[in-house]
Amino acid sequence: MLRTHTCGELRESDIGKKVALVGWVHARRDHGKLIFIDLRDREGLTQVVFIPKVNKEVHKIAQDLRAEYVILVKGAVGQRPAGTLNPKLPTGAVEVAAEELTILNPSKTPPFEISDEIKAQEELRLQYRYLDLRKPGLQKNFFLRHKVYAAIRNYLDGQGFLEFETPILTKSTPEGARDYLVPSRLNEGKFFALPQSPQLFKQLLMVAGFERYYQIARCFRDEDLRADRQPEFTQLDIEMSFINEEDIFSLTENLMKAVADKALGINLKIPFPRMSYDEAVKKYGSDKPDTREDKNSDSLNFLWVIDFPLFKYDEEEKKWDMEHHPFTSPKPTRIEELDKPLKDIKSNSYDLVLNGNEIGSGSIRIHNREMQEKIFKIIGLSDEEARRRFGFLLDAFTYGAPPHGGIALGLDRLMAIFTKSESIRDVIAFPKTQKASDLMTDAPSDVSEKQLRELHIKIR
Ligand code: ASP
Repeated sequence: MLRTHTCGELRESDIGKKVALVGWVHARRDHGKLIFIDLRDREGLTQVVFIPKVNKEVHKIAQDLRAEYVILVKGAVGQRPAGTLNPKLPTGAVEVAAEELTILNPSKTPPFEISDEIKAQEELRLQYRYLDLRKPGLQKNFFLRHKVYAAIRNYLDGQGFLEFETPILTKSTPEGARDYLVPSRLNEGKFFALPQSPQLFKQLLMVAGFERYYQIARCFRDEDLRADRQPEFTQLDIEMSFINEEDIFSLTENLMKAVADKALGINLKIPFPRMSYDEAVKKYGSDKPDTREDKNSDSLNFLWVIDFPLFKYDEEEKKWDMEHHPFTSPKPTRIEELDKPLKDIKSNSYDLVLNGNEIGSGSIRIHNREMQEKIFKIIGLSDEEARRRFGFLLDAFTYGAPPHGGIALGLDRLMAIFTKSESIRDVIAFPKTQKASDLMTDAPSDVSEKQLRELHIKIR
């Protein structure tokens, strides 16, 4: 290790110690005789002072230091002179008097100041995301995100869940958005779809007998972006066998309680209140009502919205479609009962709402082939099309599929609320713009004629 301590570590009890610190020059104040820098690493800031009489050569090199230079400093920890203590900094009582200085790498002048207070243009921030991410405020978000992931994994492990990975190159999984398609080089004219969710794979893992699955899963949906949407986003995806809705509610509530406790130090009250879809729409005009009395209060206000309709009428397409996805089970368990007016049929599905944001959605699934075929028919899939798109699932249901259900929680949105961020872009390391592009790497971008030819593609 080049360092003996981090920049957030030194206290009065360290006075007199010889230390080595590494980091970025955060700020530099040249008072002629004395040069001060605030040295920054991911743990904090420490003041370093260059004094000619400690080392004249080092003082001379320090005159060349500029913002964002990466340096190694060795010296002794001393008390800051009376009147210059900074009570806002945990290291604010001490400073390091530099005896040695190594410039590990100089830096060009950054396009914006690395500071939480300076509001640089978002386009510039995204173009130089690696600089934007140096800001202490953003760094904090990712430390918290890591803690939340650790709390999730720890809790689910304790409940007997297995963590899985499911394919990224796959077949369309309908969640109501357009697919991102990937052309196959080896299968001319054929395409993979990136998963809109791991829905079908998690159900097949239940058929395979694993009983408790989770995945911190990347999902891809090609939709027009709103402020809180990204074309690729992360879900905590969960599925369980031999359970009913109550089991999902209690698992999710206890999971959120563990996360709030371990990552945020908040004592969350469970169980969460429940409201039927009909009541939410009637009383609040929304299926994700914000039921907080004070809409600006920040505590965490969770609400289950339950008893969703199974179907909704698509005015544009002039046909019935699913309110959730087509694998959601209806409340009626007998197939004949699906012949009543479709608008009156309820489903075994539920949404988790937090402060007026939908952060999770799930259902008890269909596990019976005839019921699944009937639902496909109602939403207008012919037998052939159902077979072509979902034949593998229909087949799987004929080999002893257990009753099962699950939920998926949107981790980006959850993290944005936990960190009180204005945008989910502040909790995603490398987010995309509203036009689904990455300003740093310049993706999506052109490809060569040779690549297109190999993929059997001609641009229209
Ligand atoms: N696959 C669903 C979604 O992505 C969640 C679920 O039903 O478990 O919204």
